[in-house]
Amino acid sequence: TTIDQRKPEWLKINLKTNQNFKEIKQMMRNKTLHTVCEEARCPNIYECWANRTATFMILGDVCTRACRFCAVKTGLPTELDWAEPKRVAEAVEQMGLRHAVVTSVARDDLRDGGASIFAATIKAIRQRNPLTSVEVLIPDFQGKTEALQIVMDARPDILNHNIETVARLSDRVRSKAKYHRTLELLARAKEMQPEIPTKSSIMIGLGETWDEILHTMDDLRAHHVDILTIGQYLQPTRKHLKVEKYYTPNEFAELKEEGMKRGFRHVESGPLVRSSYHAHEQVKAAQTH
Ligand code: SF4
Ligand code: SF4
Repeated sequence: TTIDQRKPEWLKINLKTNQNFKEIKQMMRNKTLHTVCEEARCPNIYECWANRTATFMILGDVCTRACRFCAVKTGLPTELDWAEPKRVAEAVEQMGLRHAVVTSVARDDLRDGGASIFAATIKAIRQRNPLTSVEVLIPDFQGKTEALQIVMDARPDILNHNIETVARLSDRVRSKAKYHRTLELLARAKEMQPEIPTKSSIMIGLGETWDEILHTMDDLRAHHVDILTIGQYLQPTRKHLKVEKYYTPNEFAELKEEGMKRGFRHVESGPLVRSSYHAHEQVKAAQTH
């Protein structure tokens, strides 16, 4: 059976533009920076930017992988720009961000997967913006411990790595990433720096069962993950995986409860929740525990 691919009411939003927004966009272009907020056409962009949170995508916009839910271009990237950390730090300053999220495509072509640029970006943001918290949403670095160590040594405020989906669907949905490698990375990050909160996200609506979602939560908790976000998968283009189910706001609320019962310090769960949604509050929640 195929479900009605039209979006339910709670996923419809109005994107209106204002002057401030246009200025920020212009500044991004002048600095040749990419934000996930814009590229993924994230529905929360107004709320997040107004709340002084944004997600930067470093290391270019071409990915060495091709996950079947993701709209990022696939190919052989060439970009490795050591001036990028400084430009990100300046943009953080100009936008007056309280919380900066830094992520990247998977750079399997680089020996350290781009870990050194992540570390340099954390340091550059800190130097210019001592009050801004920095979250990194990292690729799996093909499981290389040394690469993860480089990032952890730069002491991000949150270490985020997404599990994306349940174990059964992982190979179909994610390209080259492995469910267990993700769990191991999260556990290892915790071992390296026990006081740095770890975080992961699940997209639902890809054909997983309710029990599989709960089981994934258990796996994440067994690997000491502190913060969980759960959001509705939306098909970026017709070539990407179809939406198998639209969960209702009530179901998302139930999942939040299930997460809190399992001992996550913070759970964001809702149809429009994305990995970095309300991330600033998550830093506070994680620190007050
Ligand atoms: Fe940007 Fe993340 Fe907010 Fe979306 S949820 S607008 S990607 S910071
Ligand atoms: Fe998209 Fe990340 Fe997968 Fe690359 S590794 S295709 S950026 S989800």
